[in-house]
Amino acid sequence: MQWETVIGLEIHAQLATKSKIFSGASTAYGAEPNTQACAVDLGLPGVLPVLNGEAVRMAVKFGLAIGAEIAPRSVFARKNYFYPDLPKGYQISQYELPVVGRGHVDIDLEDGSTKEIGVTRAHLEEDAGKSLHEDFHGMTGIDLNRAGTPLLEIVSEPDMRSAAEAVAYARKIHALVRYLEICDGNMQEGSFRCDANVSVRPRGQEAFGTRAELKNLNSFRFLERAINLEVERQIDIIESGGEVVQETRLYDADRNETRSMRTKEEANDYRYFPDPDLLPLEIGHAFIGEVMKELPELPDAKRLRFEKDYALNHRDALALTASRELADYYEAAVTASGDEPRLTANWVTGELAAALNRDALDISASPVCADMLGGLIKRIADQTISGKIAKQVFEAMWRGEGDADAIIEAKGLKQITDSGAIEKIVEEIVAANPAQVEQYRSGKEKIFGFFVGQVMKATKGKANPQQVNELLKKRLSS
Ligand code: ADP
Ligand code: MG
Repeated sequence: MQWETVIGLEIHAQLATKSKIFSGASTAYGAEPNTQACAVDLGLPGVLPVLNGEAVRMAVKFGLAIGAEIAPRSVFARKNYFYPDLPKGYQISQYELPVVGRGHVDIDLEDGSTKEIGVTRAHLEEDAGKSLHEDFHGMTGIDLNRAGTPLLEIVSEPDMRSAAEAVAYARKIHALVRYLEICDGNMQEGSFRCDANVSVRPRGQEAFGTRAELKNLNSFRFLERAINLEVERQIDIIESGGEVVQETRLYDADRNETRSMRTKEEANDYRYFPDPDLLPLEIGHAFIGEVMKELPELPDAKRLRFEKDYALNHRDALALTASRELADYYEAAVTASGDEPRLTANWVTGELAAALNRDALDISASPVCADMLGGLIKRIADQTISGKIAKQVFEAMWRGEGDADAIIEAKGLKQITDSGAIEKIVEEIVAANPAQVEQYRSGKEKIFGFFVGQVMKATKGKANPQQVNELLKKRLSS
């Protein structure tokens, strides 16, 4: 039997507002437990929530970025459930009438093609507190600082057909919310959380299979692993005659397994009803027009512009627009390089990316800033140094030894382009290696590399490689 995987994601993006969605309490991360939850966040008697306008603006921004309809009227609803981290007994969310309706994003697949994924809706809601299981023996601590933090829950259509597609989608949404500056995207701190709904069906069957919802996926790698595990688990169950049950499963990264957390509740378990403390949210054309004007250039548009303006291939343009910071870095480096877009793309996606990766640094923390990298590229382009020596200079810049010109000067790395000087060295090498010259002349042309190596060694890699090749060829064939 051939199985097909079906995946839909629910993403909770914490909106980057200064204060909470219905109160003035701070949303700053990492404060002493229970110092940032006020009476409104706790739902104490006699308080009233007041909607944070900035959270609405951010939700609308997202909606516009995915081509979705912004609801002229949406409604906050109470989702009732009991849990220790939700002392007021209900979460304010949106249910039947979400602020953002149906939209879509294009994801980039590994073979270079794109696929459109539907976004069913995105709605505003408040976060709950947090249960702390470490540090308390036989007890659970409750930190309510996070209660009332604004979230945008982004629900996808079940349009993805593999773990790789799900990751590509999650990455795309991640890039979008960061481009829009509505969420910091930090998955470790829980500012960007993905839940994956996974089912399998026999290939060719139209009806979806029963799904399980996977939680606790706090990195893209875990998202991919957990989905693959779940697909295998479901296929095993069905093939051995069992039935998949609809449930919520928790991913355990240490053991690389998922385990059942609870059987899935139905919407009617939550007794949703419109929150009587909040007016319906009405959004007019003027407001939408205003937000539209604030939209930055988005990843797809930027990628197309990079392909066109800088003559980059799809792959490089995609890599360079993965984040706004990286794209800005690249463009600044191109300017500093004296307009060398292709060479700059090679360096940013090659040497720089590798160094950042090696030292686990984000582009914003790169010890080599865009101006410095551009300065180095300028010296490759004007042939002051070869590409090979440039790598040495780059490493020195990375270690904080100064900018490219200073390092080239201090280490005497300037390329030798004086053909007289190179000729002299060629002469010496040829004279010192009669046996190899003999071999070359008797047809063993592979030995040519040996001569190039010798000249480079004698010049500490500083001779212009092209000139070395030409002069050696001339001398050996004479
Ligand atoms: P709930 O209200 O239980 O959260 P929804 O209908 O809102 O359920 O769907 C939640 C997510 O699950 C959506 O992203 C949707 O695309 C996805 N989904 C629904 N059915 C399936 C299925 N059979 N297989 C995989 N994903 C599914
Ligand atoms: Mg849901």
